[in-house]
Amino acid sequence: MKAAINGGNSVEVFDSTVVEVRTDAGLTGYGEICPLGAAYLPAYAAGARAGIAELAPRLIGLDPTQLSLVNHAMDSAMRGHPYVKSAIDVACWDILGKVRGQPVVSLLGGRFGESFALYRAISQEVPETMAKMVSAYGSQGYTKFQLKVGGDPDIDIERIRLASAQLQRGDVLVADANTGWTQHQAIRVVDAVRSVDVCIEQPCMRYEECLAVREHTDRPFILDEVIDDIGQVPRGHQDRAMDVINLKISKVGGLTKARQIRDLCVSPGIAMTIEDTWGGDIVTAAIAHVAHSTPPALLFSSTDFNSYVTVSIAEGAPQREGGRLAAPQAPGLGIAPRMEILGKAVYES
Ligand code: MG
Repeated sequence: MKAAINGGNSVEVFDSTVVEVRTDAGLTGYGEICPLGAAYLPAYAAGARAGIAELAPRLIGLDPTQLSLVNHAMDSAMRGHPYVKSAIDVACWDILGKVRGQPVVSLLGGRFGESFALYRAISQEVPETMAKMVSAYGSQGYTKFQLKVGGDPDIDIERIRLASAQLQRGDVLVADANTGWTQHQAIRVVDAVRSVDVCIEQPCMRYEECLAVREHTDRPFILDEVIDDIGQVPRGHQDRAMDVINLKISKVGGLTKARQIRDLCVSPGIAMTIEDTWGGDIVTAAIAHVAHSTPPALLFSSTDFNSYVTVSIAEGAPQREGGRLAAPQAPGLGIAPRMEILGKAVYES
């Protein structure tokens, strides 16, 4: 599939990396990292593999169930590069769940209710096509829609207006610019849609630009790409820079750090879209465990990347039902990779 995410950027083929962590007790854990191309965040697929090859030998001998020690070792051996560390951390959580005989959702605090609501991303097209997609996905059970904007401001205004006309009572519409507007363009757009029931997500590249746009609108405001570290949450809260954050597991370095940020947001009531940059069945399972253990009032939305992609890489991954998803019940992530699809390892340590 093609994902057109902002002005000039689109991605047609996603390059995903799966990590297998083996233990001397015979258990294995799995994680997945799939950056959204090289132009989106400071992350790219070959970089993930190079970084994992650099880190992995330094982790041999550690106990994968001691997540703080594993993360400390990774952060000591490599500064930054959270996306490199994410799949390793997720694989260790998978092992921890298997050791304890519990799904990761239980280890993250427990399952809230039966399922949680997903958003559907709507790739950049002409406004009429995007509006039709809102209606089509609505009939599949989705109630939350994320329009990819961040292109020509006049066309984006039309996209938002036409899409909003398709909403049913209770639906949520987000216009996600993925950093694509300049500050003056963003201010024009938010002014033009001031009477539309729409949330604005990450209009510009830099935090300060987003903050300036925020000051020009009373639409609910979501920060995504700039929330790449736990320190951004108290800063944004202090500045009243956002109502919602977009928490992507690999953007912050894995489940251990995603949980820290999630729990930090719960206390002051900052809602979250919990997801990742992209991915398949293993990423979708990891997202489901975090999202399902988040208080529903603060789970703004989540997503099921395995329904966007054409290849299934694991059995047991959660499958969407009527626009909703549930974390697997089996121990760990609750998935088993399809080795016949993945092929031979490109690197072993
Ligand atoms: Mg976003």
